[in-house]
Amino acid sequence: MERVVRIRGLHKSFGKLHVLKNIDLDVYESDVLVLCGPSGAGKSTLLRCINMLEHYHEGTIEVLGKDIKSSRANLSYVRKNSGMVFQHFNLFPHISVMDNVALAPIHVKKMPKDQAYEKAKSLLDQVGLSAKYDAYPGQLSGGQKQRVAIARALAMDPKLMLFDEPTSALDPEMIKEVLDVMIKLALGGMTMIIVSHEMGFAREVANKVGFLDDGKIIELTPKNEFFTNPRSERTKEFLSKIL
Ligand code: ADP
Ligand code: MG
Repeated sequence: MERVVRIRGLHKSFGKLHVLKNIDLDVYESDVLVLCGPSGAGKSTLLRCINMLEHYHEGTIEVLGKDIKSSRANLSYVRKNSGMVFQHFNLFPHISVMDNVALAPIHVKKMPKDQAYEKAKSLLDQVGLSAKYDAYPGQLSGGQKQRVAIARALAMDPKLMLFDEPTSALDPEMIKEVLDVMIKLALGGMTMIIVSHEMGFAREVANKVGFLDDGKIIELTPKNEFFTNPRSERTKEFLSKIL
């Protein structure tokens, strides 16, 4: 099986604040890894290091076989081949939903416009937004915005998808429509790293679950083991609060 992400000895600090402490992580093709842990544990920072939205100080990160720090070309390859979805959507507010989805294929991949728009339509259909091609982000609900954000990330045909609490800014009735899209992606074999506290989702589609606390991966186990037999007291305590 092909390794998609390999992290060894990763350290990251913000000034004096040591946020990631000696992280090792392997993610293989078609893995669906759900990472949970308390606020401030370093989950977002870890995800953001994987495509170097954050610079890191020590350690190596290889994505799709490329060391992202060793050359601009490697980083650019990794960014082109991975998609990220944020808690707060980060759509471009001044352009339509379709333009949001078609933008990167046109500008980054140099895809002909008509082809990029066809692709955008098909992706918006896949996430259940056929009626919203021409809407602006401001006209959409949170759940719809997040589905556009997923379609936009998929437009680059990523080999890896990173999700940072994709449902935590959503009203409860919208969470399912976003999780359903993610479930479809997972079942289609997409390699995914998802920071989330949706343990129902984790139980349904994750194959591995990790627990991050105070900048360290305390536990990273196959899903069933995580829920039935967590190894550390800290994980048990956390699970008892959120389950
Ligand atoms: P999580 O996503 O698990 O809640 P984060 O990765 O966002 O945690 O943050 C980990 C720690 O790093 C926190 O203490 C947070 O305040 C700090 N931090 C995150 N981003 C920055 C930043 N840009 N500058 C300074 N400190 C930051
Ligand atoms: Mg976070």
